[in-house]
Amino acid sequence: EAKRAKTTLGLQYHTAMSDKINKRLAYIEDMKASLVAGDFRLHYQAQYNHSGQITGAEALLRWQHPVHGMESPAVYIPIAEESNLIIAIGQWVLEQACRDIKQLETLGLPSSFKRVFINISAKQLIQADFQDKMLAAIEQQKINAQHIALELTENLLVEDIEKSITLINALKAQSVDCAIDDFGTGYSSLNYLKKIPASVLKIDRSFVTNINQSSESAAIASMIISLGKTLNMKVLAEGVETLEELSCLKTLGCYHYQGFYFSKPLPLESFIELLNSSE
Ligand code: C2E
Ligand code: MG
Ligand code: MG
Ligand code: MG
Repeated sequence: EAKRAKTTLGLQYHTAMSDKINKRLAYIEDMKASLVAGDFRLHYQAQYNHSGQITGAEALLRWQHPVHGMESPAVYIPIAEESNLIIAIGQWVLEQACRDIKQLETLGLPSSFKRVFINISAKQLIQADFQDKMLAAIEQQKINAQHIALELTENLLVEDIEKSITLINALKAQSVDCAIDDFGTGYSSLNYLKKIPASVLKIDRSFVTNINQSSESAAIASMIISLGKTLNMKVLAEGVETLEELSCLKTLGCYHYQGFYFSKPLPLESFIELLNSSE
């Protein structure tokens, strides 16, 4: 009796496992199909300086799943990374961002507007031809390379620090800038940070949320701000949602912001309207 129960359990376990695997495989197939069908989109979230001018934007991937509806990048990006599909998706993001930048350039950018930042995964960055792909996409749309920049997380950068430094310097020589994303959540030591030639440091949202009510968050943000200043980097706070958070950041000496308080990520057409109305 006990033996039979055990076998049944084992079977159930295997069924559950293969169910999970099949679901994941189907999900990956859905992503592939959407990439071919053109169901991915880029939205743009404006970045502001302390005078309220728009200085740039972050491109954020959006996926409308044919059945499940709008999927969160926090869910599908890790799956795309595991399955290597992130390389094809990331290439699409790069090319689409360049097409969108071309449109922005054609319409005429406000003088305060510097760059569009795109998020790059580790698997993309370690490709031997990453730099060539970057330059080819810029060349294909004939955009100004100064208008595109990369967001890289600190963990990704310190994984192979020497290679990261070489790559960032090579991109810099071609006018492509880099930002360190989600700073403070990773495991980089300050010694590493000093070596990374990125020009923007993004304070992670976890230290910005309720910063006006948390002396711990304020202390960490303050440290990141002075660190950025010492290293000659622009410090940008992400996830600013309230006027209270904004005021607190200003007091601490942070003068670049992104967040729902200012604007949500928008489809390109709406982002263009925002740019026009803010000039
Ligand atoms: P991230 O690069 O740190 O992007 C910021 C995230 O915070 C975005 O979430 C954005 O919509 C959200 N956000 C911005 N302001 C606020 C705010 O005031 N409050 C709150 N609660 N959230 C805010 P999203 O679009 O869901 O993206 C999540 C993550 O997915 C991104 O984090 C990034 O790591 C990744 N991701 C997005 N697009 C791409 C892409 O094209 N390629 C790669 N490799 N990763 C991407
Ligand atoms: Mg980012
Ligand atoms: Mg971020
Ligand atoms: Mg983040």
